[in-house]
Amino acid sequence: MEKKILVTRSSMPGFEEYVDEIRELWDSRWLTNMGKKHNELTEKLKEYLKVPGLELMVNGHSALEAAIQAFGFEKGSEVITTPFTFASTTHAIVRCGLKPVFADIDPKTCCLDPTCAESLITDKTVAILPVHVYGHICDVDAIDAIAKKHGLKVIYDAAHAFGETVDGRGVGSFGDASIFSFHATKVFHTIEGGCVCFSDPAYGKEIYYLKDFGIVDEENVARVGENGKMNEFAAAMGLCNLRHLEGEIESRAQVVKRYRQHLSSVPGISLGMDYEGTNIKSNNAYFPAIFGDEFPMDRDEVHRILGENNIGARKYFYPLTNSFDCYKDCGYDPKRDTPVAWDISKRVLTLPLFAHLPLEDVDRICSIITGVKL
Ligand SMILES: *Cc1c(COP(=O)(O)O)cnc(C)c1O
Repeated sequence: MEKKILVTRSSMPGFEEYVDEIRELWDSRWLTNMGKKHNELTEKLKEYLKVPGLELMVNGHSALEAAIQAFGFEKGSEVITTPFTFASTTHAIVRCGLKPVFADIDPKTCCLDPTCAESLITDKTVAILPVHVYGHICDVDAIDAIAKKHGLKVIYDAAHAFGETVDGRGVGSFGDASIFSFHATKVFHTIEGGCVCFSDPAYGKEIYYLKDFGIVDEENVARVGENGKMNEFAAAMGLCNLRHLEGEIESRAQVVKRYRQHLSSVPGISLGMDYEGTNIKSNNAYFPAIFGDEFPMDRDEVHRILGENNIGARKYFYPLTNSFDCYKDCGYDPKRDTPVAWDISKRVLTLPLFAHLPLEDVDRICSIITGVKL
């Protein structure tokens, strides 16, 4: 049996590098609560992400809940979002006491379709929550125009889009707020972690209160906050990983290039956005392949055959969040409400992609999919 290839692999700094980074924590005994590493990482990330304001969080999901909660929307208000995402996006809306309203996606990017989103606006709508799926950039201009026209807030789930830029502008600077996830499986990670990015300092202050139990000062607790703080060991991992990030992204780009060489002209397979040579700097976070009717196998068959060959591919995103069991009594009808997302969710696979995935492994994966001996 050939060695197992997982769909992703966490990047790690050298062991000694990490030990050097955390050494001073033994002297200071300051392990969490906005310590030195936390503050250093905040400044470094603001610069790297090209955003005016940033609050680190314990994970991406907490970042998303805080980002929503900080606006203080009335309970029961509606948020227009996409079902073609990770569970976190939809759960965050619901856990904040709001109602997700699902718009369909653009088949090219798999991101929220702005026209469809606009058609769902009611007098209860307070916000739009799009996702930069696979690191594909949403139609930010159209979404911005709709939000302005209807007086809505825009919160981007940018968990997949760490470090991407559009015409040199940081992707986290679009909308009223953006969140990133620094989970171990993401392009950049702090083991567990995340952040909220924003431009309004008053909003940033709200996020800060929310992540620290709503404590405003020693004798004043003015918000119903949570414990969303990033600890010093996580921040230290982030400081190390950030040093190697550009190399990791470059290595991912080589993997993506190899996949494209093998798969881009295979009838019945369509691939994710190719931003090479455009105004968008991609982070090469994921490599989605969509299997059309002309392809001799359907997605589930490809998934099975890869599995038999010890290769982990993921049905990402399947099922849609509006078909989750926990929302079965909410009156959603995914096939009717979001037909494009429904169709793609049954056809898509994300293929193994991480820095330093050997190109011979990419060759083998593609050869198994296409049946062509390489
Ligand atoms: C990873 C992810 C999250 C959640 O982030 P965590 O850090 O795992 O809490 C949210 N949304 C999307 C799209 C993600 O991929």
